Amino acid sequence: MALLDAAEIERRARRIRCLFLDIDGVLTDGKLYIGPNGEETKTNYVRDGYGIKHGIRLGLQIAVISGRPSESMRQRLQFLGVQHIALDTEDKEPAYLRIRDALKLTDADCAHLGDDAPDVPVMRRVGLAMTVADAHDSARAVAHWVSRYNGGHGAVREAIDLILGAQQRRPW
Ligand SMILES: [Mg+2]
Repeated sequence: MALLDAAEIERRARRIRCLFLDIDGVLTDGKLYIGPNGEETKTNYVRDGYGIKHGIRLGLQIAVISGRPSESMRQRLQFLGVQHIALDTEDKEPAYLRIRDALKLTDADCAHLGDDAPDVPVMRRVGLAMTVADAHDSARAVAHWVSRYNGGHGAVREAIDLILGAQQRRPW
């Protein structure tokens, strides 16, 4: 277990400039509804969307890296103001490094909220490794912080609130 105490979480959160998010199992509950023609549908949690939109408005960068392609997710993320979106990206670490470098940030300036094995290489790098309550053991093993909420049920909002709260930039 890599869990850190509340004081250390707050110290690290204070310096986060960019939160990286996974989609499936983090922004969604991980379920894919497959239609008759193979088209995929998934659910998004509105409270997470509000957090993303207002986090960006308050100056927190949000980046999304997902192993799956999804045009509808891209459109929703763009609507929320997310500027850094890497979809259909099996290997997340190169995408993370590219975005980190483009933003001129260090690993300590970045947090990643992931739920499964593909997130682990990025979670091992960042200053604040975050995961959801229903994470796979691989992600839980390297997480500094675990949300009270499951993927697709408010974990993203809690992570954003934590970072903004540590920076005294809460939107309420
Ligand atoms: Mg996932």
